[in-house]
Amino acid sequence: MASGLKNREKEYTVRISNVLEGSAAYLAGVRSTWILETVNSKKIPDILAYRRELETGIVNIVASEPFLQKEISFTVEWEDPGLEFDDVIFDEIALCANKCDFCYIHQMPQGMRKSLYIMDDDFRTSFLYGSFVTLSNLSEADVKRILDENLSPLYVSVHTTNQELRHDMMKWWDYKVKDEKTTDIDLMLRRLEPIQLYTQMVLLPNRNDGKELTQSLETLATYPNVEAVACVPVGLTSHRINLPDLKPYNQKQAQDVIKRVDQFQAKMLKERDTRFAFVSDEFYITSGLEIPEAEYYEDFSMIENGIGMVRDFLLEDLPELPKSLEEPKKVILATGRLFANELTKAVEPLLNVDGLELIVRAITNITFGEVTTVTGLLAGRDLIAAIEANEADLLLVSPNILKYGTETLLDNTTLDDLRRILKMDVRVGGTNLKELAETIINDSEIQYLPQFGFSTHAIKEASKQH
Ligand code: SF4
Repeated sequence: MASGLKNREKEYTVRISNVLEGSAAYLAGVRSTWILETVNSKKIPDILAYRRELETGIVNIVASEPFLQKEISFTVEWEDPGLEFDDVIFDEIALCANKCDFCYIHQMPQGMRKSLYIMDDDFRTSFLYGSFVTLSNLSEADVKRILDENLSPLYVSVHTTNQELRHDMMKWWDYKVKDEKTTDIDLMLRRLEPIQLYTQMVLLPNRNDGKELTQSLETLATYPNVEAVACVPVGLTSHRINLPDLKPYNQKQAQDVIKRVDQFQAKMLKERDTRFAFVSDEFYITSGLEIPEAEYYEDFSMIENGIGMVRDFLLEDLPELPKSLEEPKKVILATGRLFANELTKAVEPLLNVDGLELIVRAITNITFGEVTTVTGLLAGRDLIAAIEANEADLLLVSPNILKYGTETLLDNTTLDDLRRILKMDVRVGGTNLKELAETIINDSEIQYLPQFGFSTHAIKEASKQH
């Protein structure tokens, strides 16, 4: 089937969301809600192609107002025309060609935002946002585009380098695969040699862990373009209907994963001066072992995949605490069950502040089921079920439960809804321990950047799989 930049030229419109006042587009008469027709006579499928055309220097742009049937053509020379867009992919997100046994989207409850059900496997969003892609839906033209435009780094879900096992775990659909070569992970890692690759392995107990894990790490280390490997555990929900029977990691199994990766790291540190493979926080918490020190995570390059988030949160010490508060207050810190113990330990010094009643509330995830314990997948209804109205003065939530740039949770509940229903102030607590303490003590508003949040990726990033 045809694909790639040229072949993505299907029916689609590129709506302009904003035109900067005083810009070349504005002066030419283009306004928001208009349609970008062509740039240098070409249809533009995504923001990358748009930027690439601008980089050519002298650029002709055609925009139209369909209702007035008005079309304007203008030219810029080495200048940003001033157009803004809501989306980054203008044609359509490339969907995956797989039916992974552990797919999170197949086990999602109903009623979430529509965008969360999109089985996005688009190399462009991998480059732009760091979402993981499997590569099995690429066409020859896509691979060529990645190489020609040096879309580096990319984030690749490898899972295992054992080809037979990988197929067994991912079960790609032959009719959706455009180029059979893309299902061969060894071949793909070599084809993409000029591109830096951050990889991940979603581990399933007794499937691709154990000796298979060690072997995969050994193999991945042989590719010069593979920068690192993130080992994350399979994420499960209670909505697995007619899906393979998968079990979550138990303590002993988690310890075995850590031991194997530790052994491999020791070897890599000697050979390459990097640990190369990293284990997610979830494995550490399940194993009962101490969360490693910051040094373990090197440059925290895979933090958005849950590798080092806990350590990063704890990195900055608590600020100097007052002996007492001017006004007494009761504060609830809402968190997923996974992180509750660590958070309780971290905020212990705040319990000595007179007038402050602080409660860490481990929220049971009724939306995805109790088996889901990460904070990032808590929905508004979970908070409402776990906290009584008027129970406290202030509820603090993690920025990771909000859709990027909004105050909206996974089930479309907003922070305002929570304020109204729970009859208390509800705010974002902070991206690290210091900020959290400052919010509690000083009522300071924090400027936060959610670590997850581009709509279609939130769920996959929070569940750490794809
Ligand atoms: S995990 Fe990702 S690649 Fe696998 S089936 Fe689900 S959406 Fe597709």
